[in-house]
Amino acid sequence: MNIVDNVSLTVIGSGDAFCSDGRFNSCYYVEWGDKKVLLDCGPTSLAAIRKCSLDPMAVDIIVISHLHGDHIAGIPFLILEADKAAKRKKPLTIITPPDGERRIKEVSALLYPDAMTMFQNLDIRFVQYSQDAEIEIEGFRMNFFEVSHNPLVNPHGFRIEKDSKILAYSGDTGWTDILYQIADNADLFICECNFYERETLTHLNYKKIVAEQQNLKAKRMILTHFGKESLAHYSEIKGEKAEEGECILF
Ligand SMILES: [Zn+2]
Ligand SMILES: [Zn+2]
Repeated sequence: MNIVDNVSLTVIGSGDAFCSDGRFNSCYYVEWGDKKVLLDCGPTSLAAIRKCSLDPMAVDIIVISHLHGDHIAGIPFLILEADKAAKRKKPLTIITPPDGERRIKEVSALLYPDAMTMFQNLDIRFVQYSQDAEIEIEGFRMNFFEVSHNPLVNPHGFRIEKDSKILAYSGDTGWTDILYQIADNADLFICECNFYERETLTHLNYKKIVAEQQNLKAKRMILTHFGKESLAHYSEIKGEKAEEGECILF
């Protein structure tokens, strides 16, 4: 008998960089078997995780889609708490696009001058991914895909697989056909929907997602990363929308 437990994903932050309508920055807390995985960690994430009655110190793995502040700037505070308050011993793996370790350490050191000592005190391992290599960590298989966003922040979407479950995430991106591959057969596909109809090279809009929906062959799709324009049309956005505090089983 092969019973696979559900994976649960709690939406921590479903807003854009500007916290439009008071939404938090990007962050998702995934409880997957005995591991807790955070997808992105925006600056609002510690508060938002606590609002969901979850424990930021229980996280084992953080996976970062790209190096914009609204996706990484919560990490310095997580490190601060881990070292100063929690005296954390448990290992933490931070999986980043190229140059992630340097930038996360630099921003941490700007905010807290003794951050490098904190990193040394803690059992933290950085793993850098690229589009070309599958990563296997603690039973998870991960694949990363370059997407259409500011190239200076090394933007990627990704797929995480374990125990026959597939979680896919667009990261921040304008339309790119690589989204077919990212979404393909995923049990859950978290897809950004920054705009309602405005077209840019760096973010998706709802109209384009609807036009492509039948080609995005995920089993379930949830829209997120809502900006001011998509929020102004929120009631016209059909299908599942990421609501903060919501726990999604898949
Ligand atoms: Zn963003
Ligand atoms: Zn971004």
